Amino acid sequence: MKTNTPLRRSFVSSDDQTVIVCPNCKFVKPLSVSQFRDRKHILQIKCKCGHTFKVQLEFRRYIRKKVDLEGECDLDSTKGEKWKVTLVDISFGGVCLELDIPHNFKVGEEGTVRFVLNDQKQTALNSTIIIKSVTSKQIRCQFTGENTFQKDLGFYLQS
Ligand SMILES: [Zn+2]
Repeated sequence: MKTNTPLRRSFVSSDDQTVIVCPNCKFVKPLSVSQFRDRKHILQIKCKCGHTFKVQLEFRRYIRKKVDLEGECDLDSTKGEKWKVTLVDISFGGVCLELDIPHNFKVGEEGTVRFVLNDQKQTALNSTIIIKSVTSKQIRCQFTGENTFQKDLGFYLQS
């Protein structure tokens, strides 16, 4: 009988998908939770390893994790050139990129970003993006297109 298992939070993305990570065996289980949308909800999960634990669904969709990751992007105005960037935060919805050189990026530009998570597997991710806001040092981008890295990113955001 396990006691004092801390309540784990599980972030739900805008398409009502989440990933549950078993605290015992680290098994990752994708889950659709649309029936619980916008309600505080605690799920009792029984993992295939036999471990039972509780997960609180977290529907705030723009939870951001502060990071310091190397990446590269190309956008409309870089004309195929890849720019080195630093990722300063990341969420299911997008990333904030920091540049240490002058740029002329504009809101609405589209492109791609590539980066490697500092997780155990050194997961390499890439996504198409669109710029949502710009400052002299930072551009905030939203992921576009098919989000094929939900599982890897979900695990990372919860670690
Ligand atoms: Zn398990």
